[in-house]
Amino acid sequence: MMSSILKKVGDFHTHNYRCNHATGNLDEYIYNAYKKSIGTIGLSDHFPIDYSKSDNTLRLKQFAMKNEEVNSYLAEAELLRQKHKQNINVRIGFEVGYLAGKEDKYFPRIEELNGSIDYLIGSVHTVKLKNRYWSLKNGDLKHLIKKYGSKRVYSQYFDNVNKMLLSENFDLDIIGHLDYIKNGSENSNLNNFILKEIGNLIPYIKERGVAVEINTQGLRNCYKKLYPCKKVVEKLFEYNIPIVLSSDAHNPKDVGYGFERVLSLIKKIGYDSIVGFEKRKMIYTALN
Ligand SMILES: [Zn+2]
Ligand SMILES: [Zn+2]
Repeated sequence: MMSSILKKVGDFHTHNYRCNHATGNLDEYIYNAYKKSIGTIGLSDHFPIDYSKSDNTLRLKQFAMKNEEVNSYLAEAELLRQKHKQNINVRIGFEVGYLAGKEDKYFPRIEELNGSIDYLIGSVHTVKLKNRYWSLKNGDLKHLIKKYGSKRVYSQYFDNVNKMLLSENFDLDIIGHLDYIKNGSENSNLNNFILKEIGNLIPYIKERGVAVEINTQGLRNCYKKLYPCKKVVEKLFEYNIPIVLSSDAHNPKDVGYGFERVLSLIKKIGYDSIVGFEKRKMIYTALN
């Protein structure tokens, strides 16, 4: 029964070796989705970051493919899409890390790709404080919280998500890991604060007409919860915001991770459909 539902859904968030912190090639991700009877696999590796030493982004080099890899990534993905189309739908996209204030650097490059991609995930992986960008990994987050306090750092993160939604020069179809600022740890004192911040964002999400991913990466790390957490998903449902399934796999074996659990949770919350994307169009799939 469950496998017949999986056939109807897609995993719209996967990476591969190009981003320097994932393993496996595109074919392995596609194969794992097929093996797990998932109907659609979305390839969405990290889009190149605009690096510069002065604003601290040079350190983010290990987080994305290089500019010169974009064309070969797209060509290989398209070849595999054709090759496997009898067995599985392959959708091609990118996860684009939003860097507040650098939208104009992405816009022309992303616009050029429009004919060759199915969707874009827009995610905030960094916060900008004092004109420097900091990742939310590798101790950066701890350092920032120690220096500026949790509320300032968390607010800054949600402010960046808001800016991403308001930016006309930052194109996206899906918001990646909406409450990622938790990054594997939960601070119960901050939960209400986070819910309030997200509550303020919801009208902008609605206005922008994008989907929010339900990302299972948090189930695999010490956080043991979804990004975003259940309370946020309930809020999204209240506002009728479309959702998309995502594993954020950085290893082929994690494709579709926890999807049964997510499907039963979202149905319990009240969702009777999820969405996918093809050639930048949102497509609804009924969950019954
Ligand atoms: Zn990644
Ligand atoms: Zn991400």
